[in-house]
Amino acid sequence: MTIETDALIVGAGPVGLFQVFQLGLLEVKAHVIDSLPHAGGQCVELYPDKPIYDIPAVQVCTGRELTDRLMAQIAPFGATFHFGQEVNTIETQVDGRLLVGTSKGQQFLTKTLFIAAGVGSFQPRKLNVDGLARFEGGQLAYHVTNPVDYVDKDVVIVGGDDAALDWALQLCASHPDGYPYKAKHVTLIHRRDSFNAAPATIAKFRALCDAQQLRLVIGQTTGIEASAERMTALKVTGPDDATRIVPLDTLLVLMGLSPKLGPIATWGLDMERKQLAVDTASYATSVPGIFAVGDINTYPGKKKLIVCGFHECVLAAFGAMPFIFPDKQVMLQYTTTSPKLHKVLGVTPRDPD
Ligand code: FAD
Repeated sequence: MTIETDALIVGAGPVGLFQVFQLGLLEVKAHVIDSLPHAGGQCVELYPDKPIYDIPAVQVCTGRELTDRLMAQIAPFGATFHFGQEVNTIETQVDGRLLVGTSKGQQFLTKTLFIAAGVGSFQPRKLNVDGLARFEGGQLAYHVTNPVDYVDKDVVIVGGDDAALDWALQLCASHPDGYPYKAKHVTLIHRRDSFNAAPATIAKFRALCDAQQLRLVIGQTTGIEASAERMTALKVTGPDDATRIVPLDTLLVLMGLSPKLGPIATWGLDMERKQLAVDTASYATSVPGIFAVGDINTYPGKKKLIVCGFHECVLAAFGAMPFIFPDKQVMLQYTTTSPKLHKVLGVTPRDPD
């Protein structure tokens, strides 16, 4: 079913989230699409626990905290989130609205589109081994959709970052804080004997390996053993050049995510060096009704900072008003003093005394 809306935002990074807020103040409810399964964009994907010091009036917060605060701030506006799907196609219709299609086959018909796609959509890094791709969606997964799938199975995880180690611990039958969903055996394959994860996670992982509750195999995955319909093992070549056979029922590849500009380049919008060219009066792109905010856009003097993206959201929201409410004159109001804005925010301002 096609979803009809006034505003659609591509990207739930910090700037896409603040676009929800600015549209909300102007009484526009938005739908938001992100290829990731959660909000936060680069802040959550690349530096969730690192401190940020240059958000106005917030002395310090981590990438995850900033996202949580933005989600709380936009809660009154009831945006609808569509996670885990990439926006693939955009076509302008005869009535000026935009037909937007996603990788999950969902369609949106929107009066305005806000591209807050940052450095592109984050995609899992694939394991390139002959014959493996045909098992994707069956024995091979690039993220956990349902932990029940791993119960009582021989699970092999490939990767060496927090996500890989966390899932190895969660699925390990003898990890006391783990999931209720326990695998029969968990083997982690990583190309070297050091990890890019939190020290506490690494310590827990090593302790369970020493207790022979988890297995670590160091090396590169060089092949698979499989019949026509079933994969039975991975071939892993170690630093000693020996190839070991690692049996499995299910394979979970968690080698991190990489951003890909993806289909944005095919949407017919003016671009400069892989970024969307915009008019800084409203952050409009070259196609009417489509705006671009945050890291994805470019203009003279552009700085890829969160605070700059936030400013762009204000002007883009006002710039979109003629497309959404062609007959309405939209005035700037202050959140401190406007009863109308208090109503949309759902707040009762405190008495100064
Ligand atoms: P992003 O955060 O990149 O979010 C874009 C979202 O769009 C992503 O979630 C992506 O999955 C989604 N997306 C893209 N294409 C599609 C598509 N076709 N379909 C569906 N979804 C799509 N900035 C600061 O101001 N201060 C700092 O201290 C700071 N520190 C940083 C530290 C590091 C290590 C890094 C890497 C960056 C830092 N930045 C900092 C930069 C800051 O993170 C970016 O400016 C900010 O994340 C841009 O926000 P955004 O919403 O425009 O894009």
